[in-house]
Amino acid sequence: MSDLFLLSSVLPERSRRTCPKRTARITRLDCARHERGKGIGRGVLALAALALLATPAAARKKPKYAAPPPTVGGLLDNVNGYTFDAHGKLEHFTGLLIGKDGKVKKLLQPGDERPEWLDFRLDGKGRTLLPGLIDAHGHIMEYGFSLMGLNLTGTISLADAQTKLANWAAHHETPAWIQGFGWNQEIWGLGRFPTAQDIDLAVKDRPVVLERVDGHALVANSAAMAAAGITADTKDPPGGHIERDARGRPTGLFVDAAQALIRKAVPEPAPVERDEAFRKAQAALLAFGVTATCDMGTSQDDWNVLRRAGDVGALRIRIISYGLGVPTTLSIAGTGPTPWLYDDHLRMVGVKLFADGALGSRGAWLKQPYADMPSTRGISLLSDTKLKNLMSRAAMDGFQVAIHAIGDAANAEVLDAIDELAQTYKGDRRWRIEHAQIVDPADLPRFAEHGIVASMQPTHETSDWKMAEKRLGPDRLKGDYAWATMLAEHVPLAFGSDYPVESPNPFPGMASAISREDAQGQPAGGWQPQEKIGIGQALAAFTTGAAYAARAEDVIGSLEPGHEADFVLVDRDPMTTADPQALRQTQVEETWIGGKRVWVRK
Ligand SMILES: [Zn+2]
Repeated sequence: MSDLFLLSSVLPERSRRTCPKRTARITRLDCARHERGKGIGRGVLALAALALLATPAAARKKPKYAAPPPTVGGLLDNVNGYTFDAHGKLEHFTGLLIGKDGKVKKLLQPGDERPEWLDFRLDGKGRTLLPGLIDAHGHIMEYGFSLMGLNLTGTISLADAQTKLANWAAHHETPAWIQGFGWNQEIWGLGRFPTAQDIDLAVKDRPVVLERVDGHALVANSAAMAAAGITADTKDPPGGHIERDARGRPTGLFVDAAQALIRKAVPEPAPVERDEAFRKAQAALLAFGVTATCDMGTSQDDWNVLRRAGDVGALRIRIISYGLGVPTTLSIAGTGPTPWLYDDHLRMVGVKLFADGALGSRGAWLKQPYADMPSTRGISLLSDTKLKNLMSRAAMDGFQVAIHAIGDAANAEVLDAIDELAQTYKGDRRWRIEHAQIVDPADLPRFAEHGIVASMQPTHETSDWKMAEKRLGPDRLKGDYAWATMLAEHVPLAFGSDYPVESPNPFPGMASAISREDAQGQPAGGWQPQEKIGIGQALAAFTTGAAYAARAEDVIGSLEPGHEADFVLVDRDPMTTADPQALRQTQVEETWIGGKRVWVRK
């Protein structure tokens, strides 16, 4: 890995950012078609680039007596490179010149002269190069802990999950509490939520807490409920729900705010365990080509972990943090968003608030009752006044406000609140609505009125469409996961995965976005297919769109000169991969951040 060795010497003293402030726009071109026409000459051009690389050093012109001029950085040549320009237009290039400061110096076309004096020069061998992928909504520490705990994602039945749990317990004598994640009773075909008794059948002698795939419900076994002091007398907390049997006894299922009743009994992880969780999460994200991520709901402990990683130079991925609630955000960041720390690697820019729960656990707050449980409309987590007070408190200090809203009532509430607050807090506030899953079609145009960012997760649609139909019935599907309508309404669109709810791999996200078909190709032709978008639009939402959502478009998201040289080399060209299943399988081969190769597929 001689180039890696060379790279480590390229690392820069931070220089002031000179890139002009600009507004990223989501491209509305059909980029795939646009680029396909250009593709014909690419082979020839690539050959020309190869010839350049092959020029022997002795044949190149060198000044005879003068000392060599200072090197300009590195060159990644002979690539099939894509990026979006400041206007959201897809650009193609074959060479990427990286400055000594780890930023993009120039994008080179086949005919452009290649500089002579370089710290390194690499042949991309014609591979496709994309801007580093950005996840606009994830939970980095939860993801790390999910990689350390029992992963029930992909279990196909309760019995399957019970077997995995029993095996895990047998092979892990510590920790005292078994924590798991990722079950979904819909996939199990159970027709009900799991209970403490179900879990006791697998593990009885240790407390067990298993979180549902959406993070909005958990099931505890009897030992965990006993340790948490849960009895028939325990009342539902505000914003939460304890599932009960016919005699009023808790069954073991705790929804939304009720989860805290169990969680408070779980021993806190030690700092070393938190650091380990972060390392695991970071390694996995880099392998998926995720070079930057928003952390949605950073706690004080989470922040401490990120700072510790930064302090010892172990922070590779870039993290744009949204503090968990207003007090935490103020406590960490003080009087306003932090500056970029550790060479553009960490910044707290805003606050994360919750307006409602999730659809799977019927916590999403709907305008009309649930089709499959007419007794409820879901849960509103904040009163109108409280929501506006918190948003106002954050906006006052210049923090960006990102609000979780899944149901149509929650989305309408947040839109109303922004409508009102925008009269006081003017300018580019870049309000974010997280998920924006179920929106009354009448409310969709309201996103554009105040430049609200729709921060959405394409894989939620393909994972949840069957469940959404049950919860909502046939008449409330039009404004759901409405990516194409958002773009048509000129709403800035940012994509993410909400990892660990879904895998952070952005390529299944792009495949979902263009097809609205799941990994099994279901439903054929796509669910509510009018909301499919083009691959160029999907890639933009995972790059420039996510950077814009994070107020980081001057630093990352595109490979324009002056931006950080964050990019990935992949094993196929997503722009010309028409088959969504093939797009889904795209493998990242190398991940580069700030002009340094930080991950390579072995
Ligand atoms: Zn989330």
